[in-house]
Amino acid sequence: MKISNWGLFPWIDAQTVSSKEELIDQLKEKSTLIARGMGRCYGDSSLNDLIWSALQYSEIVEFDDRTGRVTCEAGVTLEKILSVVVPKGWFLPVTPGTKYVSVGGAVASDIHGKNHHNLGGFCQHLFWFKLMLADGKIVTCSSTDNSDLFNATCGGMGLTGCILEASFQLLKIETSYIRQTQLKLPNIDAAIDAFEQMSAVTYSVAWIDCLATGANLGRSVLFLGEHARLDELSDRERQEPLVVDVKPKRSIPFYFPKFALSTWSVKLFNWVYYYGHPAKRESLVHYGPFFYPLDKILHWNRMYGRRGFTQYQCVIPKNCGREGMNAILKELSQSGEGSFLAVLKLLGPEDFLISFPMEGYTLALDIPIKSKNFELMNRLDQIVLRYGGRLYLSKDARMPAEMMRKGYPKLPQFIDIKQKFDPNRQFESLQSKRLGLQ
Ligand SMILES: Cc1cc2nc3c(=O)[nH]c(=O)nc-3n(C[C@H](O)[C@H](O)[C@H](O)COP(=O)(O)OP(=O)(O)OC[C@H]3O[C@@H](n4cnc5c(N)ncnc54)[C@H](O)[C@@H]3O)c2cc1C
Repeated sequence: MKISNWGLFPWIDAQTVSSKEELIDQLKEKSTLIARGMGRCYGDSSLNDLIWSALQYSEIVEFDDRTGRVTCEAGVTLEKILSVVVPKGWFLPVTPGTKYVSVGGAVASDIHGKNHHNLGGFCQHLFWFKLMLADGKIVTCSSTDNSDLFNATCGGMGLTGCILEASFQLLKIETSYIRQTQLKLPNIDAAIDAFEQMSAVTYSVAWIDCLATGANLGRSVLFLGEHARLDELSDRERQEPLVVDVKPKRSIPFYFPKFALSTWSVKLFNWVYYYGHPAKRESLVHYGPFFYPLDKILHWNRMYGRRGFTQYQCVIPKNCGREGMNAILKELSQSGEGSFLAVLKLLGPEDFLISFPMEGYTLALDIPIKSKNFELMNRLDQIVLRYGGRLYLSKDARMPAEMMRKGYPKLPQFIDIKQKFDPNRQFESLQSKRLGLQ
């Protein structure tokens, strides 16, 4: 079966098994495989010749609506969890920019949201998870039990074993609405100043015009948000304060042709987006458009055409975040190769062994696949390394092994744990082979 992840690059031929029994058989035969959830990582983290798909295991095992503790199988999506817990006054403690990810994928990538600077990553909120190891044994891991495996599996990209079930704490909400403040900022320095001043706000994210130059370099629209209280809703909204997000009705049915994504179309999009927003606006929005604006259109990745795209997501430590972001945006705007989607967020302190976040600024750029852009990303790598940063494995399809080694200083500890529990290297992905994570 031909398969790819969200970036539509690379495509490979793979065989998929689905049940735990088949998984155990494959492990006994000493096959090499990788777990896969919804395939929402952009690159090759969940690709291999043999894939175990967790999606068959999609039950919520237990949900206590008094305490907000939820236990579910690894193939459950965040969308399904929201549909059950929001009406009872609970929300995900951490959510990425799409709700179509599985709990297994959320743990394996230690996903971060717009609140990482306040609440950390997804794995901070775990009580425990069950992991199937290479010898077929199932172990329960938490920060106190099998803590070495816990620390390596949170953000460990499926390379320590297959996550079967997880239990975590939800966040109490009074309504399913967000009190949003939107601010337009003239350049990247103003954006960073605003992030610093507003760091006590729970959610923050900025869209950046990455083709703007000179005094406008990195002009942005910043979105800040807090969960709205009941007394902040209008009479109409108060009639149904915990309404769940609606299913998307629109879809991109075909791959866009190459010319649709020229520098000019990106420039025009960025211009319209920037000038389409007022200088400042306060509003009440549903959690759907606040957290998941891209989920409104199914298959939006086809916009990048058949060749696909990758997401270049880096983090630069906070002490040189301003300088680093200026350098990256200068390189991007000079290249003329813009990104429709350029998103800046603030991250809090790092956790776990190879989890992506570290205290600093993270920039995510959608970059179409073409040879010129690989050269651009190589140049961006040098800037990221110069400022002591690193790249997010869950978005990556091309990082060189050297970049991984330099960006993740705890990699040797991770490899020791992997070696101990997976001595025959049965959990491997195209990415782990490329990066030499053995
Ligand atoms: C539009 C969009 C926005 C996004 N925004 C964000 C964001 O804001 N923050 C963020 O952190 N990420 C973001 N992501 C990335 C996404 O959250 C992660 O890639 C997530 O891991 C995808 O989950 P998945 O179920 O699709 O897993 P997959 O893509 O299938 O796999 C991702 C990784 O998880 C491993 N894995 C999956 N299931 C299991 C399992 N059961 N056991 C062991 N390992 C497993 C795979 O081996 C692989 O290494 C975004 C992605 C998209 C498409």
